[in-house]
Amino acid sequence: MTSTQTRRIAIVGAGIVGLAHAVAALDAGHRVTVVEQDAAAVLASVRNFGHVGASVQTGELRELALEALPIWMSLVERAGVEARRSGTLVAARTAAEEAVLDELLAARAPEGARLLGAAEAADVLHLGGPSRIRAAALLPGDITADPRTAVARIAAWVAAHERGEVRFGETVTGVGTGRVETNRGGIEADHVVVAAGHLVGRLFPELAERGGVRECSLQMLRVRAPHPMGLGPAVLTGTSMLRYGAFAGPAAEALRGELRETRPELLEIDANVMLTQQADGTLLVGDTHAAFDSAPPFMDERWSRILLDDLADLLGAERFDVLERWQGLYATSDRQDVLRAEPLPGVTAVSVTTGVGMTVGLALGARTVAAL
Ligand SMILES: Cc1cc2nc3c(=O)[nH]c(=O)nc-3n(C[C@H](O)[C@H](O)[C@H](O)COP(=O)(O)OP(=O)(O)OC[C@H]3O[C@@H](n4cnc5c(N)ncnc54)[C@H](O)[C@@H]3O)c2cc1C
Repeated sequence: MTSTQTRRIAIVGAGIVGLAHAVAALDAGHRVTVVEQDAAAVLASVRNFGHVGASVQTGELRELALEALPIWMSLVERAGVEARRSGTLVAARTAAEEAVLDELLAARAPEGARLLGAAEAADVLHLGGPSRIRAAALLPGDITADPRTAVARIAAWVAAHERGEVRFGETVTGVGTGRVETNRGGIEADHVVVAAGHLVGRLFPELAERGGVRECSLQMLRVRAPHPMGLGPAVLTGTSMLRYGAFAGPAAEALRGELRETRPELLEIDANVMLTQQADGTLLVGDTHAAFDSAPPFMDERWSRILLDDLADLLGAERFDVLERWQGLYATSDRQDVLRAEPLPGVTAVSVTTGVGMTVGLALGARTVAAL
């Protein structure tokens, strides 16, 4: 150990979770080496919506999300990350969806939340015409970050720090107490953080098996906004109400029953129909979910059509100009939301095993480092 205060921290993975640990460790005065197998991070942390959705979480995820929000804003200042307090608009198109919003606001209203009528919701989204949205909840605290540039900018900030180093294109092949083996040699460290996302089992197979870690494959698209929308809130819809803890309750269960009857195709693809608005006027839209031990790479065009049709209905669009499609991958498990373990003395493994790493990841880094 270099001194009682300054430790050498080696971090596996330059996704948001690895970089969260790097930022927290540098802020605490430690030395940091981040090792990333790819030439740039290209997995979950760049393939997502960039939605930092604190207001739709509950329990520990909500606590973590609230801790993460100010860290995101500090990285806007320090690292030039593109992130803004966009808020989240949750749109209801049916009475059952409106009932979920009523329940949210009555039972668990996030700070500053308010219910919008049809006209006000259409205004917020610049719809400029009649819409099927009958009500919406506006949740003002949330952030939208640009997921394509965020982790690259944080990595550049870490690399430019006098106590920071990021090694791209180097694969960690083994982790032990006090040392990380890589395909380019090794690194001595006082503490090792394994933030390998859904690949945690490549280094610690028993840990991944115990944690029930599998790969969740998601279908995503970038489309041109059908009309100028400004830079408004992230938009969630009825299927989002089945997914996030803050909506859970009798009304959400009733909605699930209704969707099973009226929109079974949305449940079949385990859709979370949502979008985030990007600075270039495009929308990141998605998504679908399916869990595998090893996810096949193929994207089903019918699934994309189901998403696009539902979004067209939401925004009153005839059709979308699709600019890009991609497969997302993240760690999933039905045993815990976040896998945190010490597989060896001086080694911490952290994988977010539900799709909220952009929302909670920055706080996980701060917590691990505080506990060192
Ligand atoms: C389509 C999609 C949409 C999503 N939307 C949202 C959202 O809007 N909001 C939200 O909060 N979350 C969202 N998520 C979830 C979120 O993106 C993830 O939870 C988060 O990015 C996980 O971060 P991570 O750093 O753990 O993993 P990753 O980003 O996968 O990073 C892990 C890194 O470790 C590296 N690595 C692995 N093994 C090794 C090794 N042996 N040696 C060296 N490097 C290694 C990998 O190359 C990778 O770069 C979404 C995810 C997807 C896929």
